[in-house]
Amino acid sequence: MHDLTCMIKGCQTRVYAPAGTHSICREHFLAYLIWRRRKGPQMFMKYAGMTMEERDPLVAEWASTIRVEEAPTAPAPKS
Ligand SMILES: [Zn+2]
Repeated sequence: MHDLTCMIKGCQTRVYAPAGTHSICREHFLAYLIWRRRKGPQMFMKYAGMTMEERDPLVAEWASTIRVEEAPTAPAPKS
């Protein structure tokens, strides 16, 4: 665990907690927690027993659902 900043693309915040073999900031950690909670208590139990490597695909799945807030405001194409 030698990441200095959050693994989420575009996030420059210092890491707070591990997520799989990577690390994420506090804000994203809380978002990840909420995401897992939505998947139900079974997910929580299952996740606790998973290795860091096994958690990686789950982290990737969650990461793909995140919208980067700091994205430069490009003019939205009007069709
Ligand atoms: Zn972050």
